[in-house]
Amino acid sequence: MRAVIIDAVRAQPEVREVDTPFAPEGGVVVQVKATGMCRSDWHAWAGHDDIAWPHVPGHELAGVITEVGAGVERWRVGDRVTVPFVCGCGRCAWCAAGEAQVCPDQEQPGFTHWGSFAEQVALHAADTNLVAIPEGVDFATAASLGCRFATAYRALVARARLTKGEWVTVVGAGGVGLSAVMIARALGARVIAVDRKPEALALATDLGAEQSLVADGRDIGADVAALTDGGSHVAVDAVGSEQTSSDAIHSLRRRGRHVQVGLLPPVDGHPRVPMARVIGWELDLLGSHGMAAVDYPEMLALIESGALQPQRLVERTIGLEEAASLLPVFDRTSVAGMTIIDPSR
Ligand SMILES: [Zn+2]
Ligand SMILES: [Zn+2]
Repeated sequence: MRAVIIDAVRAQPEVREVDTPFAPEGGVVVQVKATGMCRSDWHAWAGHDDIAWPHVPGHELAGVITEVGAGVERWRVGDRVTVPFVCGCGRCAWCAAGEAQVCPDQEQPGFTHWGSFAEQVALHAADTNLVAIPEGVDFATAASLGCRFATAYRALVARARLTKGEWVTVVGAGGVGLSAVMIARALGARVIAVDRKPEALALATDLGAEQSLVADGRDIGADVAALTDGGSHVAVDAVGSEQTSSDAIHSLRRRGRHVQVGLLPPVDGHPRVPMARVIGWELDLLGSHGMAAVDYPEMLALIESGALQPQRLVERTIGLEEAASLLPVFDRTSVAGMTIIDPSR
């Protein structure tokens, strides 16, 4: 099969013929119909994760099952499926409790094993991790859910418990940030979007942000406080840097809830977090790490009903060759919204 393969940290990715995967015990092989490219793929390429090289990236996928391993009960060849980027082991107490997103023995396609920038991908513990794609949802839309959209959904619904009428500041208007804007609006919250790029903010406004602030060095906390009579109830850092995390935390009112979604890799030592403000204002700091398959049906029902429209976030579709060229510069790409790869192109 054809796959985007990376031979070493920061090596130029290439499209090459590689061995097709086989279904592990309890797992399946999926023919990839669509797979998203996100900043986490760039982090893996850049050496911020523990990766065994050579490696095939890709963790936001949807496709059709082509092979079912021994012991799988719920799935058949031909089923249309997607999968959260965190795949639980299916055996531990966390998985049994429906919390596979924090499974200590988790697998992540594109990180712990070869991922979906390929014609086929192997997935583990299928009965725990696979999600059936409803008839009315296409593969590109389903692929756009697995990482950023589901993470934004869980961050706001299950972690921050955002309610109608509350203010939420979303820092970063890329894939996860724009997802958060759309989901927050659907929940009846009032959204302030923050980004360095005016064109990304224009998209956030289209998706329901009531206010937008260009992060041009201004005091985001002070501006949000002025717009919201004291600060937002909830803040999301959808980027993951010392600056964006700090901006999000400083945008909160007293007793506010911050959700950290963007990864803060300790590139130059671990980034500082404004803990004095967290203590003095009794802020809640919450982490959010994807969403377990068991929680998908509620979100998928909102997508089928049209209340949520993740397909609006899909900016462009490219092939494997283009994906290989794009990955090393993906941290600097100017495209807002989601980039989807179709391996058959
Ligand atoms: Zn587990
Ligand atoms: Zn991702």
